[in-house]
Amino acid sequence: MELADCGSLEKIADEIFRQMSEIPTPVPIEDIALALDIADIRGLEADGFEGGLVTDAERSSGAILVKEGSSLERRRFTVGHELGHFLCTWHQPPANDGFRCSTGDMRKTITGQVDRLADIEVQANRFSVLLLLPAVAISRDLKKKAGVDIEHILYLAGRYQMSKEATARRYVELRGERCAAIVSHLGKVLRIYRQRDFPFIDVRSGEAIPRTAITARLNPPLGRPSDCETVDGSTWLSTTIGTRLPSLYEQVLVQANGYRLTLLSFDEDEVDEAAEDEELRESWAIRFKGKR
Ligand SMILES: [Zn+2]
Repeated sequence: MELADCGSLEKIADEIFRQMSEIPTPVPIEDIALALDIADIRGLEADGFEGGLVTDAERSSGAILVKEGSSLERRRFTVGHELGHFLCTWHQPPANDGFRCSTGDMRKTITGQVDRLADIEVQANRFSVLLLLPAVAISRDLKKKAGVDIEHILYLAGRYQMSKEATARRYVELRGERCAAIVSHLGKVLRIYRQRDFPFIDVRSGEAIPRTAITARLNPPLGRPSDCETVDGSTWLSTTIGTRLPSLYEQVLVQANGYRLTLLSFDEDEVDEAAEDEELRESWAIRFKGKR
């Protein structure tokens, strides 16, 4: 495989897919890396580090390091991340022999400030997702499925051999309906992923899950998503006195070790009705797509 100077993450990923006649599922990330001049993928034993890339500024050679004992999903994500550092030639190696990436680096999704080192980690994570959860293939899979449902995330996570969290985030981005995924641990919110038209969620990272939320009240069996239930919009969304909020659908998945995945969505019929009503439109603080 030969890549000309593609200039952006999306262009590099698109060019890789263009050179494969069809995208196999799951994406054969290690074969792709080896076809792109990565000489070797080998184990890494260093506390706190998930992966690394041994290379120089010119990328005259490259070897990917993956933490020993990583799960299959994590290993795949790490290889995608390090391949991102290798192919994004504007990523300057912070050390003489290349990059070492921590668990925290692998979670970075936004920097929030100008920080060049954090920025390249965000980009490497994005690149890994673009390759491992390809938009075209996922959108095709989702066309066969109706509504918004954690079952879809479980299906895609298995099919693409990715973690449920990374898949949930991509699902929210690609589903094409207003939805949001929330990862929590022992009753506290860790991370929130919102589709861009989903309103602001009034709970911050580190805060407790609202008492009235399905996530706080239901205990479905481990690994099996709850039914989708309706909750008052004020459970999760910010409200001001005198305004009405749309109701939400909420579904929860109980995972191992105290983790939970929550999926929020709207009754799109109710949203459509509100789009006709100027006062509701204002008070719901939802961005309506055109005039529906
Ligand atoms: Zn990195």
